[in-house]
Amino acid sequence: METIGSVYVHAPFCSRRCYYCDFAVEVGSSSDSDLWIQAIIGELKALYEEGMFTLSPSLETLYVGGGTPSLLHENSMAQLASVIGNKRLEKNDLEWTCEANPESFDLEKASSWIQAGVNRVSLGVQTFQESVLRWMGRLHGAEMPYEAVAIARKAGFSNLSVDIIFGLPPSLKRNLRKDLEAVLSLGVDHVSLYGLTVESGTPLARAVSKGQQDVISGTQYREEYLFAVEWLESQGYEGYEVSNFAKPGKQSRHNSNYWSGKPYLGLGNGAHSYLHPVRRWNIRDWDSYYAKALETCLPIENQEELSREEHKLESFWLGLRTNTGLKIDDFLPSIKKRFDSWIARDLAVEREGNICLTSKGWLIMDQLTVELMEHFSCSESENENL
Ligand code: SF4
Repeated sequence: METIGSVYVHAPFCSRRCYYCDFAVEVGSSSDSDLWIQAIIGELKALYEEGMFTLSPSLETLYVGGGTPSLLHENSMAQLASVIGNKRLEKNDLEWTCEANPESFDLEKASSWIQAGVNRVSLGVQTFQESVLRWMGRLHGAEMPYEAVAIARKAGFSNLSVDIIFGLPPSLKRNLRKDLEAVLSLGVDHVSLYGLTVESGTPLARAVSKGQQDVISGTQYREEYLFAVEWLESQGYEGYEVSNFAKPGKQSRHNSNYWSGKPYLGLGNGAHSYLHPVRRWNIRDWDSYYAKALETCLPIENQEELSREEHKLESFWLGLRTNTGLKIDDFLPSIKKRFDSWIARDLAVEREGNICLTSKGWLIMDQLTVELMEHFSCSESENENL
């Protein structure tokens, strides 16, 4: 039986909702850490009873994301370790990441995380520009990321990542180069770069629909992304996935497991799990989620079995989003011709027998995946007719 080596745990609490955010978050002045841990206990019990997702005796990766995990009580990571099973977290090269926002991350919390076994911190920085932070609805100031990194290092973390946003409305006059230079001065080994999207139901979407908020043009969005990728790579951060950049050996193994199609278990409201061919996702609303979990019922919103075609599409999409790409010899000659046209248009390169998208290709990754799938389906039916 295939066991699960990667676990994601969602901590939904945020002090307030950012202007653009549509994540599964629960807004309040503090988190309910005890309820959170009880809900995780209930969900795990329900999963053990069901018997479909079996945790490996030694986890490879554990990722606590949110929301804002740094709003949880300082003992929460130690409690989580005992709930998951301390023995499961003893592997020497376990990667245990916890997300933090600079304003709720202090030395006490950082030290308690280290003691619990957390060994990687991902900081939600987004920008160092005060006016832009206020527009976003973030609670930290421009200096706080520096303090948070210093705190993390003092506590003993050497593996640090920061999130940076691009694609902001031009009226904000955000200086992306300056922000990237500030990231460099933090000396972190990993950067995640996310483009702002206008998600329906958010205050940002409402302002845009009323004509009260400008949005970036497609051309400018593209230019910002290409500039950021080139700049990060020139500073030694290898783009190993469409949104992720790392110094050698510092790639996130947790996310890499997702992209290589390995099974994973997601705990918490809105969390997703995958064990081929089943994909399932939890109830998104925190109150409804924990009510189910506390009754030791599976808090699942829905699940689906991927068809062969859907699995193929997903494996293409996952492969193309990383710099490992897809093995060319797995495709028929007619599709290899398609790859040649991508290379000719500077959308892809051939590397060690694999077709890998360039940053220009990553910008239209969804389109290229569909194109590949269409040709794949045609060539398969041609083959069947031979
Ligand atoms: S801190 Fe992150 S998860 Fe929380 S509201 Fe802001 S963007 Fe959303």
